[in-house]
Amino acid sequence: MLFRPACQAEREVFFMNMVEEAVKLIRESESIVVLTGAGASTESGIPDFRSNVGPPKKKKYDYPVEVLLSHTFFINNTEIFYDYYMNNMVYRDAKPNDCHKALAEMEKYCNVLAVITQNIDGLHQDAGSSNVIELHGSTRRNYCMKCGREFSLDELLEMNKPVPKCVSCGGVIKPDVVLYEEPLNERDLSRAVELTLKADVMLVIGTSLVVYPAAGLLNYYRGNKLIIVNIGSTPFDRSARIVIHDNAGKVMKKILEGLKA
Ligand code: ZN
Repeated sequence: MLFRPACQAEREVFFMNMVEEAVKLIRESESIVVLTGAGASTESGIPDFRSNVGPPKKKKYDYPVEVLLSHTFFINNTEIFYDYYMNNMVYRDAKPNDCHKALAEMEKYCNVLAVITQNIDGLHQDAGSSNVIELHGSTRRNYCMKCGREFSLDELLEMNKPVPKCVSCGGVIKPDVVLYEEPLNERDLSRAVELTLKADVMLVIGTSLVVYPAAGLLNYYRGNKLIIVNIGSTPFDRSARIVIHDNAGKVMKKILEGLKA
């Protein structure tokens, strides 16, 4: 549905109609998978590092982000990696926004199989979603590359070292996030595929669906009730039942209100 309303009042009516339609699909669904991207967290103050949405990035190094956040760079330039990573990827004080909260509360009203996310901020868990699949890992988990000992983000921050080292063996600690050049966690990915195949409704929030694995996951969805909530258009808009181009928090709050009513 790519009707473009002309004025503000018309836009509001159109928006509420789309929300109502989405509520109806969700209410009648047997099982839902949710897929979230950076747009789900921008309202928590976490910028989308791939696009220009959100606050400006702190530019300090002359490397492209694909280099700074690559496995090779982590191994060879660990100190620069950590400086960039801690200043641009870690948001310890970020809080769940209306989108995270609505998704967690939605579980009371429908069967959410999983929230599959590309985000590494842990905010879906903070909000209370019970089954979260983190395709790109999480800044909350860190482990020693030598002995495997695990460290929380707080422990890492407390160390306050240019390169955090393991307190047991002195090995370098690596965040449990998927860097460029690294494969996704096979188990998480197959679980995400398995649940996507099962779902009759797929709700996609805050991703432009142009990068792997998000775009790839859509190809496993067998239903015809795809709902897309994203600020910009996506290559899958034409195959979706409902497309809402707006902020994730605003839309999800309205959808939750509809489910409660
Ligand atoms: Zn160790």
